[in-house]
Amino acid sequence: MELIFLGTGGGRFVVAKQFRASGGLLLRKDKSYLLMDPGPGCLIQLARLKIPLNRIKAVVLSHIHLDHSADLNVVVDAITEGGLKKRGYLFLPQTALEECIPLPYLRKYVKEIKILKEHTTYSVEGFTFKTSCKLLHGVENYGFIFYLESKKTLGILSDTAYFEGLEQEFKEVNYLILNTLRFSPKKELLHLSIEDARKILKVVKPELAILTHFGMTMLRANPFKIAQELSKELGIKILAAYDRMKLDLENLK
Ligand SMILES: [Zn+2]
Repeated sequence: MELIFLGTGGGRFVVAKQFRASGGLLLRKDKSYLLMDPGPGCLIQLARLKIPLNRIKAVVLSHIHLDHSADLNVVVDAITEGGLKKRGYLFLPQTALEECIPLPYLRKYVKEIKILKEHTTYSVEGFTFKTSCKLLHGVENYGFIFYLESKKTLGILSDTAYFEGLEQEFKEVNYLILNTLRFSPKKELLHLSIEDARKILKVVKPELAILTHFGMTMLRANPFKIAQELSKELGIKILAAYDRMKLDLENLK
């Protein structure tokens, strides 16, 4: 499985200014793609990387916030050729449908819409993933664990504040993506900081951690430097993601 970052920015300011792109994540298995959290500019990133839209077999939304969902409508329209070809499966939190995501007229364009529930395993077009418990983010939001061909696992820790037991949800993963929006903690923002990431990584001890979804405080602090220092401190391989970064998860060195 290959992982492609269609964006590594998060938070109002970074997304509004597009200091980092905000297109979400793309997973590729053979010729099929699964798209996660198509935020603003996702379609542009897909075009830039020349991803064949008809090969996007599933779109998964962790939660409804705009930096995770803004391009869902246009992506559904694009992969189904305006509804002419019924294609794709959507995996959405219940709240998405209640908030008109995607627009009601687009819902019949896709093959099926599946509603995400916590601690549930889903399989679609060669991809298998499990949801975490509901995260702490003000809206219904899930983390994910993907099962790779190598029998290893990829955890995706979406937007959340730290809470007791969070590490347990991802304890089994080999690789872990963490949305670390903030450099230092700010409780009311319900996002992970580097301090939270440190706490989580000390327990989970993945083979590889990837920091992403950077807000302004992270960009100012230099994510690459932070990843390097944290890596040294914890003895874990830690990368800071950059836009359009690609990783072959089956052959990591
Ligand atoms: Zn969010």
